[in-house]
Formats: sequence, structure tokens, C-alpha cells
Amino acid sequence: MTLDADIRACTACALLAAFRTTVVVGTAPPGARLVVVGEAPGALEDETGFPFVGRSGQLLDRLLAEAGLPRDRVAVLNTVKCRPPGNRVPTAHETANCRPWLSQQLAVLDPHLIVTLGLSAAAWFLGRTTLHAVRGRVHEVDGRRVLPTFHPAAALRGGPEGEPMRLLREDLATAVRLVA
Ligand code: SF4
Repeated sequence: MTLDADIRACTACALLAAFRTTVVVGTAPPGARLVVVGEAPGALEDETGFPFVGRSGQLLDRLLAEAGLPRDRVAVLNTVKCRPPGNRVPTAHETANCRPWLSQQLAVLDPHLIVTLGLSAAAWFLGRTTLHAVRGRVHEVDGRRVLPTFHPAAALRGGPEGEPMRLLREDLATAVRLVA
């Protein structure tokens, strides 16, 4: 079986496996130099099987395009592949269960840079931290370059003139420059 098929067959989290519609493996165009990592699928992602397809995804698409790298040239993955009921934060146990899948995906893709969206995804790489402490800088983690930034949902909550929107835009533009 391929890695994608292995992930789709996974039932390590009994609750998530029982309630999911699909396993959202992620998207990875061939040759992608940039990988964006979010937390977990939401309702629309669970329904469609694709990551970041709701309002957050549309904002991500727009900011990547503005920065000069269309979404179809970027790999988009999540730390947890199945939707937690009610969009709650994944438990530590669920995140640990799913960890090997993202590790294997990154090993296959071997990207030049990883951008993490939001605190959960940053903590997956950097351990317990705050977004304020780590965002906007490139961190070396096990030989990979990781640039944490805000989740698009936080940027949407803060509004078009808010600081999260400004910094997310700035960080994605930095990321695109770094993989050019
Ligand atoms: S969240 Fe990850 S580890 Fe848990 S059942 Fe889904 S694919 Fe498996």
C-alpha cells in the first residue's frame, strides 16, 4: 500500500475514526518546495476530503497567490488527519497517534521550508511554546526549516486591518521568497 492508502485506512483514534466522513491526507503537488501544515480538518474538509477548503483555505490561497506562489504548487498537510468532533482541539493522544503519518509525509516530500499555521502546528515541531515566542522566524528542527505563523482563522477573526492578518501576509511572503 502507498503511504496515502495507509493513512486512509488508519483507525488508531477510535473516536475520530468512528465520526469522520473522510481521512484528510493532504495535498502534495509533485516537486513542492513549500509545505504548509495546519492543525486538523474542519467540517468542510471532512466532507470533501481536502485540507483548507473553507474560509481559512480561501484566505490562504489568496495570500499565497499575492506572494507569488499559487496554492497548486504548495503542499498542504495537517498534524491530525481526521476531524475532531465539533472542531475541538485534538487531544495530545490523537496528535501523538497521528504524528508518524506527518513525519513520513515530510520525509517523502523533503521540502525546503515548512510553514506552520497556528499554535498546535508550531508546537508539533517546536514543543510547548507560544506563537508570540516563535512566529516569523525560521527554526531548524531535525534538519528541517520551520517558519511558524498565524492560522488564517485567527487572521479572519482579527479582520482585514488586524495584526494577525498583517503578520500572516508578511510571513507567507517571506516563506515564498525563501523557497524561490
Ligand atoms: S487522526 Fe491520524 S492517527 Fe488518528 S485515526 Fe485519523 S489518521 Fe489515524
